[in-house]
Amino acid sequence: MAVAGPKTYGAAMEYPAALILVDVDGVLNPNKPGAGDYRRHWVFPNGVAHRLWLDPGHGRMLGELAQLAGAELVWASYWRSRANKWIAPRIGLPSLRAVPIPSRWRSPSRSSSGQWKAIHVAAWIGQTPFVWFEDDPTVPTYLTQQPGLGRHLTVTVDPAIGLTRYHIEQARIWLDDLRANPDHSAGTAEPRPA
Ligand SMILES: [Mg+2]
Repeated sequence: MAVAGPKTYGAAMEYPAALILVDVDGVLNPNKPGAGDYRRHWVFPNGVAHRLWLDPGHGRMLGELAQLAGAELVWASYWRSRANKWIAPRIGLPSLRAVPIPSRWRSPSRSSSGQWKAIHVAAWIGQTPFVWFEDDPTVPTYLTQQPGLGRHLTVTVDPAIGLTRYHIEQARIWLDDLRANPDHSAGTAEPRPA
């Protein structure tokens, strides 16, 4: 999400703006939506029917988080840029960049879905700090195996419930610390259990 916020942290300190990575299935589209303002949608990417449960409150929460942190929202999902057509307008988000995560099924790799995503996110993102809302619980482990990453936090979301204010708050605290302490060495903050 291109925001008008500053691209520098602290007084005249050049530092790459953080990215907020957003998965779709299990995060914005939970398996069993409960509390919230979820609405059911049928969408047809590539002519294949998908039932989605989407909550416009997610768009507001993510937009506010990005704006306050001066960070950019980016899709990190197998939906890739298709999320801009089928997901974003239904929750009030603008078009976002998408991490280029190739379809795993066309690859001879035997990597798991979480490993595959972690490898491609790491290759694309480099040293840029990031928070990642993701429901695959193996992603944090696989990220530790990727060399050269900058500071990052994976906020693991329960795919049955989806993204909540609790997850947004975890990200906000981490992003606040990143702005306040931009010189900390690279590393992974341990997410608290959701
Ligand atoms: Mg997912």
